[in-house]
Amino acid sequence: MSKIEIKDLSLEYGQEDKTFLALDHINLNIEEGEFVCILGPSGCGKSTLLSTLSGLSDPPKTGGVYIDGQKVEGPGKSRSVVFQNYSLLPWKTAANNIVFALNQVDKKGKKEAKRALALQYLKKVGLEGFEDKLPDELSGGMKQRVAIARALAVDPEIILMDEPFGAIDPKNRLQLQELLLKLWQSEKKAKTIVFITHDIDEAVLLADRIVFMTPKNVRADLKVEFPRPR
Ligand code: ADP
Ligand code: ADP
Repeated sequence: MSKIEIKDLSLEYGQEDKTFLALDHINLNIEEGEFVCILGPSGCGKSTLLSTLSGLSDPPKTGGVYIDGQKVEGPGKSRSVVFQNYSLLPWKTAANNIVFALNQVDKKGKKEAKRALALQYLKKVGLEGFEDKLPDELSGGMKQRVAIARALAVDPEIILMDEPFGAIDPKNRLQLQELLLKLWQSEKKAKTIVFITHDIDEAVLLADRIVFMTPKNVRADLKVEFPRPR
């Protein structure tokens, strides 16, 4: 299960006399298994909203985020986050970045089994043979493939993606978008994806629901009715 409820959520940055309201009483529900793109101009609060879903934000000023009725108060193993800057550990190989994440969600499992799972996911993202490369030895697109493999390998119920392809050139971006769709459709467990972007083409290609933001607020909610382009 992974129903997300955003209830009366406000978030403020700064303190005392110097504050900035980034989110202003937002209400939004996201159903299990939805692929939702949050689309809006730079600075409207998309990343802030996503950080409240991940539990990595400061505490809200009002309201909060609930997952299956439980208030989000910090990161949890049911949620994976993928950032624009990949957030790979630079001193660990591609495989070991994934093993490290697996260790965080499962302290007991065998090392060999985790390595095997890491290799399996690297293969799924087209990086067979690159398992022992360090992030610096990989291109941007390849680093983001590792980050996607890591996000999926921990078997989360919800994947939160913050402009994951924003730093990738257009040709490779399309490849990564198609890869993400393929992986998402082939995973057995229903997975909810909340994907932040300011690129309308990307939202139209990926989403089955597009939530439009203006500064501080949600303005429109569009359920996509037709199948994805093939
Ligand atoms: P988006 O992801 O849509 O570009 P953000 O959520 O990053 O927007 O930012 C929303 C607003 O909050 C922006 O005006 C930004 O300048 C401001 N903001 C973001 N992070 C901070 C911070 N740590 N301190 C103060 N203001 C911030
Ligand atoms: P960018 O550097 O813009 O992020 P990519 O990382 O996707 O772009 O691709 C950069 C180069 O690395 C391309 O020449 C591409 O063919 C190569 N490359 C990307 N993925 C793989 C892969 N799985 N196997 C071999 N080469 C790859």
